[in-house]
Amino acid sequence: MMNKIPIIFSKHYDITLCGIEKLHPFDTCKYSKVYKYLCKHLALKKQNFYTPEIVSEQELQIAHSPEYLASLSSSANVAKIAEVKLLAMVPNMLLQNRLLNPMKYGTGGTILGGELAMKYGWAINLSGGYHHAKASSGEGFCFFADIPIVIRKLWKKQPELKVLIIDLDAHQGNGFEAILQDDPRVCTFDIYNGQIYPLDITAMKHINFDYPLASYVKDEDYLSFVQEGLQKCNQFKADLIIYNAGTDIYKKDRLGGLSVSAEGIIQRDHLVFSYAVENKIPILMLLSGGYSKDSANIIGQSLVQIYKNHLLALQ
Ligand SMILES: [Zn+2]
Repeated sequence: MMNKIPIIFSKHYDITLCGIEKLHPFDTCKYSKVYKYLCKHLALKKQNFYTPEIVSEQELQIAHSPEYLASLSSSANVAKIAEVKLLAMVPNMLLQNRLLNPMKYGTGGTILGGELAMKYGWAINLSGGYHHAKASSGEGFCFFADIPIVIRKLWKKQPELKVLIIDLDAHQGNGFEAILQDDPRVCTFDIYNGQIYPLDITAMKHINFDYPLASYVKDEDYLSFVQEGLQKCNQFKADLIIYNAGTDIYKKDRLGGLSVSAEGIIQRDHLVFSYAVENKIPILMLLSGGYSKDSANIIGQSLVQIYKNHLLALQ
């Protein structure tokens, strides 16, 4: 039997809520679609993947106030964060089981990914990257601040660990920016559409390498910003990269407002992984946003490329 590879998946990742999930412009089953794509194209089986535990209440409190966590027992509050008004009328138990638990498993996957990346040099969580969640509030379909949680958990063992967060989702990573602020052990490089949600000016002050883009930026410009930013990151000397690889920069995405092609996304991921491998920095990749029906396929293609180009060499 082939050994495990540090790609993390749980059958609990997908979000299915009696069809209500279809009201959100989000392919909520992209997680298992990416998993199936990898099984098919890399000849992997269930036992080759790592499976996360659900995040504990205690772990959630590493980043969140108890008041905020308690507020999730209100369906109205969950509906507001998910940006689907109808959810306010759904029994909270159902929301817990079908919406919040998948994201709790996703957060558990990010925590496991942090350990595996430090051990093997790389890890990919086929979920996670809830980059809008703050200490005392959730927003933009993000409930749990998985990035600050995994970083603080790693700091318990290695307090000096320097973490570079590369957030290339189409939206600003205002959640982790607000939580981690100007901690000198963290460096943030964020490229996002500067003309859409969240435009969080307060959180923006904490970005080290800040690239707010105009809408409809295409491959060539986008990729030159990625390269330029990665060069700037050299000065930080990171011990770990957390790569928030949202695919909502895709030209057909309804929310991201950018015009990057599928090939552009694959090239972007390749640039980030090349940077990590060349500089020998462990990397944890999270899927984050990406709401179009093509997302799962693009992610699958990109991960197969990354695996063949870089990761076989690392094993
Ligand atoms: Zn996004």
